[in-house]
Amino acid sequence: MGIYPRHSFLRQKRLRRTGRAGGPAQVQIHQPLQRLKVSKPGMSGARKVHIKSFGCQMNVYDSHRMADTLAPEGFAETATPEDADLVILNTCHIREKAAEKVYSELGRVRALKQAAARDGRRIVVAVAGCVAQAEGREILRRAPSVDLVVGPQSYHRLPALLARVERGEAVIDTEFPVEDKFDILKAPSREATRARGVSAFVTVQEGCDKFCTFCVVPYTRGAEVSRPVAKIVAEVEHLADAGVREVTLIGQNVNAYHGEGPDGSPWTLGRLLERIADVRGIGRLRYTTSHPCDVEASLIAAHRDLPSLMPHLHLPVQSGSDRILVAMNRRHGRADYLDAIARMRGARADMAFSSDFIVGFPGESEQDFRATLSLLDEVGYAGAFSFKYSARPGTPAAEMADQVPEEVKSERLQRLQAAIDRRQAAFNARSLHRSFDILFEKAGRRPGQIVGRSPYLQAVVVTAPSTAIGDIRSVTITEIRTNSLFGALNATPVRAREPMPAEAGG
Ligand code: SAM
Ligand code: SF4
Repeated sequence: MGIYPRHSFLRQKRLRRTGRAGGPAQVQIHQPLQRLKVSKPGMSGARKVHIKSFGCQMNVYDSHRMADTLAPEGFAETATPEDADLVILNTCHIREKAAEKVYSELGRVRALKQAAARDGRRIVVAVAGCVAQAEGREILRRAPSVDLVVGPQSYHRLPALLARVERGEAVIDTEFPVEDKFDILKAPSREATRARGVSAFVTVQEGCDKFCTFCVVPYTRGAEVSRPVAKIVAEVEHLADAGVREVTLIGQNVNAYHGEGPDGSPWTLGRLLERIADVRGIGRLRYTTSHPCDVEASLIAAHRDLPSLMPHLHLPVQSGSDRILVAMNRRHGRADYLDAIARMRGARADMAFSSDFIVGFPGESEQDFRATLSLLDEVGYAGAFSFKYSARPGTPAAEMADQVPEEVKSERLQRLQAAIDRRQAAFNARSLHRSFDILFEKAGRRPGQIVGRSPYLQAVVVTAPSTAIGDIRSVTITEIRTNSLFGALNATPVRAREPMPAEAGG
């Protein structure tokens, strides 16, 4: 069955769940590479690593953890690949375009590597993330300048794998090891955390057991695993201590979280959020990405009870048509989805929602597509991401009859995006003259300006000193330009929770 045999997924799942020994890492050795000088710390200063992330927040988080784990090995981060000794591309396999981007980037990196070699300097090239997991050895065949291929579940082994590369080997490690990578990864230094800003991601859950028919995640990221509560709390405390004010808990199916609590029982995401809300210094909480089937009572209660939990939920639905939802194996219908939204709004009237949509899934008719457009109207989203269906090798949908022609997908995507843009503009327009708490994150483009985020993730620009970066301050929105909101600081914080005024007719 294509490139992701289900039995291998089930084996990974068994190993990771039971903690049974999985044997040594599957490190494959290829022909020796030409040995060139690799600078060592203490010889010519720190080595430099450039990490480029593609795709989702999970990859951004993983890239940070790779940098943290390489720091004690003498690697300092650099923003440019030109002066790097090690270039890591942390890749995404979710759509064909995302995966192909990696190969064009590897073309650029190969040119850099060749130029460095002419100067007697070696650049080590690593491919990490989901393309590494899915394509493994194929990457070395298509891009021989790559020295190391490492999957999302084994990047904690980077120091050892790099040592092998330095000995002249080309290495592939796409194993799903039994050891917990989070136990081995190094924590970020205070300086690294500060440099990354006041808002941080924390992975609480990885992998997916849902098997939507279009999606590669269950194969590339493996089975659903939740981190224990105590370890997550310790990580959040460490971040708060270094000045982080907002934490977004992340996972491919974050609301299916069921990590071990301090009492030994599995905790839900709602309970975890309640615990993290108590961490001193954390003023805001978010979580992403959620599945509609896992919107359960404790999560709704958390939205009702926790003022620091932002009233914004990214709840992907993919399609508004029941027929297509069945074909996608989403395990919920349109009515279930609307019910989850209604339950959330019942708990907190100021909740706003965003979603992901796929257009042109195999068999999608114009009528199915119109059901998606009508769902958009029914929910009244604050924003959404939309994608053309991309057939992924090895997934059931790629084998389905009735693949939708490319031009139909393009036309539907255009219509959907226009409808989403109208919704987003209407949502932003309703923010005018209202006051929100804004978390200021960075300097603005113009001198004297700083930029922050509203509870609904809208970018808000104000004129204020940069010392306010890291503060949560009340702001009244005075102007709206495309997707940026401009405002003025208020003297007092916002206390009352007010719902966003309903759209006329919506
Ligand atoms: N777990 C999340 C969920 O169930 O909604 C989403 C995870 S996925 C990393 C992010 C988004 O990519 C999905 O919500 C979906 O819209 C999109 N996506 C996934 N596979 C796709 C495919 N084969 N073609 C187009 N879009 C895809
Ligand atoms: Fe992919 Fe999300 Fe479906 Fe899991 S629930 S298979 S991550 S789209």
